[in-house]
Order: sequence, then structure tokens, then C-alpha cells
Amino acid sequence: MVEEGSREQWAVRAPRTVAEAVRQGLVQHGTLDTSLRPRQEEDFVLFPVLEWQEGTSRATFIQLRLIPSLPSHEMVGGIALLQEEDYSGAARILAARPSLHTALFAESDVEGEFRTRRFTVLAGRPTTATTHIEYGIRFRIDLSKAYFSPRLATERQRLLSTVISGERVLDMFAGAGPFALTLARQASWVVAADLNPAAVRLMRENILLNRTANVLPVLADAACLPDILPGRFDRIVMNLPLNPVPFLPIAFNLCRPGGLIHCYVLVQEEGEILEAIHRHPVQHVMERYIRSYSAGRWHAVYDITVGREEGQDRATGANLVP
Ligand code: SAM
Repeated sequence: MVEEGSREQWAVRAPRTVAEAVRQGLVQHGTLDTSLRPRQEEDFVLFPVLEWQEGTSRATFIQLRLIPSLPSHEMVGGIALLQEEDYSGAARILAARPSLHTALFAESDVEGEFRTRRFTVLAGRPTTATTHIEYGIRFRIDLSKAYFSPRLATERQRLLSTVISGERVLDMFAGAGPFALTLARQASWVVAADLNPAAVRLMRENILLNRTANVLPVLADAACLPDILPGRFDRIVMNLPLNPVPFLPIAFNLCRPGGLIHCYVLVQEEGEILEAIHRHPVQHVMERYIRSYSAGRWHAVYDITVGREEGQDRATGANLVP
């Protein structure tokens, strides 16, 4: 007798050692019955197939529960971000993913000086705050109060992989601290500045949450940093992609010759801000594509190795005329 939730079907019997290759062949030929779960029998794997083939026999398989397709969404901690204002889709997402507590729809693009978005709560707890874990680091975030994007996780790891122990790092536009806390794993210390008090509050929470002892949060306009910070840095992160160019003189002023500036920017063509970069002492520049942002625009990063220039004014970054 067939159990409830089970079904008889034609079965291909493959030795375990070659089972994966057989499965791939069945998928390629479109004959694997994906509504049933393959099963093991001693040293063989039985694959359900849609019709009789030479060598098949009848076998019973467990029926897979079909999960209804969910609306497209991105997950940040316990929050699902939907692309449409779809209330019933949001409820289905929360029902299907028990780790989520809230579903949101972004009413606006990132906007204003603090680069935040406005949201509508579609389902679940009425909050825009959550805890997101990225490569083992816990981030307390609040999407309506301070910018955060999990899409830069790989980029943060790329930078981390190039940090040499002992480095002094400055994050000029640090938000809730994702770059700062990531790079702090390898750097000697990190100064992390932001203009948004809510972002700096979250960053302090994140420093405590992760017991990070080498990140200094600073509530400041990046334009004032040369007056506040002593000395120069080995590496500077500038993640203000909409308009980083006015801050390049500050970054060059605060970076030691031979140090690195990572300047993130939204561009429409290759080399778009190269001219602005070359107004400063530069040893080497490398432009990298990170991801598409909108039609015809992409997120890029310029990795700039700072050159040496004699007679540069410490406070403004302007050249002193002899
Ligand atoms: N680095 C963070 C991240 O990757 O999540 C935040 C990046 S967000 C695109 C840019 C940040 O720069 C915002 O948190 C905003 O508050 C901050 N900001 C904007 N203008 C600033 C300024 N003049 N000085 C310091 N921070 C500024």
C-alpha cells in the first residue's frame, strides 16, 4: 500500500558512486520527476523519472511538498524587502520564512544627506530595525534611520583581504559601521565618522555587540576631519557614491603617501572621475565594477594608491605655492 504523501513512479537505480552524474544527466534530459524525493537503497540511489526507460522499475517515493513561489525580495536580517507593494505576497514570505519578522516596501530611493529610505510595513512587526549577521559580525541596523546595504558584503571582504595587520584605517562615511567593523578584524585601529547621529548611535551599539575594541566612532562632517584627526592613515574608505568628488582633497590630505583610498562612486561611463582623481598626487589607480545600480549606471570603486607631493597643506589638501 502506498503511504499518504508517497507515490509510485518509474525509478532509475544508480550506484552511489556515480549517483550525482546520473542525476545531472536526468536533469539535462528533462526526465527527472522533481515532485518526488530520490532515495537510497543500500549502495544505490533511486531516482524517480517521468516515464519508462530501459532498466527502470516501479518504486515508491516521498512526494515533495510544493512551496508556492514567493514574490521577489531581498533579506536583511529579519526583514524582507519587497520590490512591489504586495501585502498578500509579504504575508506569504513571512509564513514561508520563520526567521523573518517584518516585510517592508521601500517608498523612496535612498535620499537626503543621510542616504536613508522611507518604508511601508507590509506585514509582521511594525519596525525597520533588525539584526543582520555578515561574515560572523552582528550589525544592529535601522533601515529608515541609517543607510545599510548587505550587497556590499563581498566588497567589504575584498578590502579585508588586502588589509595588513597594523594598518590605521579611516572610514569617512561609516554609517552603522559595516566597513569599519569588518576592517577592524585585521587593522590596528579604525576611525569611523558619520554625520548622521542615528548611524553613529547604531555603530556604537555594533562596537559593543561585537566586543570590538579598535573602532573609534566619530560624529562629524567628513569635511572637518583634517581639523579633528591627528596624523595620516594607511587606508581610507569613502563610501558616499552619489558625490564623493568634493571630498577627495580631504581624503588625499589624510592618507599617507603609498596609502590607499577606496573611493566608491555611481558612474555612467568608465573612468568618469579619473580626471578629478589625477588633480591629486597619485601613484596608481584601479577602477573596478561592483554591481549594476540602475539602467546605464553602475556602482564602481576606484582603488587609489596615493603618491608623494612636496608642500601639500595638511589642513586643506591644497598645494602651497612656494
Ligand atoms: N559606509 C556605510 C555603509 O556602507 O553602510 C554608509 C554608506 S552611506 C552610502 C553614506 C553615509 O555617509 C551615510 O551614513 C551618511 O549619513 C554619511 N554622510 C553623508 N554626508 C556626510 C558628510 N559630509 N560627512 C560624514 N558623513 C556623511
